[in-house]
Amino acid sequence: MIPFEYRRATSAQEAVAAVAERPGAAFLGGGTNLVDHMKLGIAAPELLVDVSRLPLDGIEETAGGGLRVGAAVRNSDLAAHPVVRARYPALSRALLSGASGQLRNLATTGGNLLQRTRCVYFQDVTTPCNKRDPGSGCSALGGYVRYHAILGASEHCVAVHPSDMAVALAALDARVVTESTDGEQRIPVADFHRLPGDHPERDTVLSHGQLITAIEIPAPPAGVVADYRKVRDRASYAFALVSVAAELALESGGTIRSARLAFGGVAHRPWRARRAEAELTAAPATEHTFERAADAELADARPLDGNEFKVELARRTLVSTLQTLTEQAQQ
Ligand SMILES: Cc1cc2nc3c(=O)[nH]c(=O)nc-3n(C[C@H](O)[C@H](O)[C@H](O)COP(=O)(O)OP(=O)(O)OC[C@H]3O[C@@H](n4cnc5c(N)ncnc54)[C@H](O)[C@@H]3O)c2cc1C
Ligand code: SF4
Repeated sequence: MIPFEYRRATSAQEAVAAVAERPGAAFLGGGTNLVDHMKLGIAAPELLVDVSRLPLDGIEETAGGGLRVGAAVRNSDLAAHPVVRARYPALSRALLSGASGQLRNLATTGGNLLQRTRCVYFQDVTTPCNKRDPGSGCSALGGYVRYHAILGASEHCVAVHPSDMAVALAALDARVVTESTDGEQRIPVADFHRLPGDHPERDTVLSHGQLITAIEIPAPPAGVVADYRKVRDRASYAFALVSVAAELALESGGTIRSARLAFGGVAHRPWRARRAEAELTAAPATEHTFERAADAELADARPLDGNEFKVELARRTLVSTLQTLTEQAQQ
């Protein structure tokens, strides 16, 4: 075992200062990802600053009709919150589709956003991996890529981001609130995770010592219906092959007033499907429109040798989710 120091922070400012001054320090949420990584030899922080018991565990309705969720709120509590279930069903379902009951009881909102890829080579320290060991190579290229990217990958990394919650938050136009030595910052969830480019070791736009304190979710547009659909190899306790978070509002005549969509399991970050949204807006809510929207979004898909099926899977999952939502909206 590699020795490390553990400290429980009593305020966000204290936590930020403690991590910012030590390059080898890390925040600790529920520990369900970071502690696994320490056991596997992927991470070796010298100091863990526990932020899971900071007073960041509130879920509050905001003046504008939105919701502010503290970074220490547990995944189970967020999924079960009555306002989340009633007004943000896609978020509740995304959370409930992830991990297991025991894990969700521990996992925090901040930690969930920052969980790292489940690429099997990233988790196996005996294999080259540019994300874990920059410059060492990418073992997934030419290897096992069933769960890997079809959009936005680079020659240096083809991994996908694993969080279900983040996909729903990207579709809902949520923002991440952070605290650092430079003060408070708000970052749209859709821009929070990076594409791999030349630096796959950097998952997000955060700097060292930047603490997530909350998520802000705007009020949903009037009359929307929403869902999160996750396709995976077994019915529970599995990561997404493809997932879709979708929110749809229809005019009384069946024209689409607005659509907000994001894919999971297809890219290094939750994939906000803006091309598909543009195709859907002001178009009739028909299967043909949904197929056109899916094709527009997936036109740049570049599957790997072994995950070609994901393009059609993503297309069908989006079309089918939109069909179900249309039926729901017309009831
Ligand atoms: C077997 C298994 C199956 C799973 N299946 C799924 C699944 O299907 N879908 C899914 O979405 N997830 C799944 N997960 C992942 C799980 O959701 C994450 O492990 C969990 O959400 C991480 O939250 P945590 O609070 O435990 O994070 P931690 O492990 O404590 O931290 C994760 C990262 O976040 C950083 N961090 C934590 N809090 C903050 C903060 N406030 N500010 C800045 N940095 C912070 C830490 O330094 C660390 O880098 C699974 C996990 C396991 C073990
Ligand atoms: S896909 Fe990314 S995470 Fe996986 S081995 Fe390649 S560089 Fe590492």
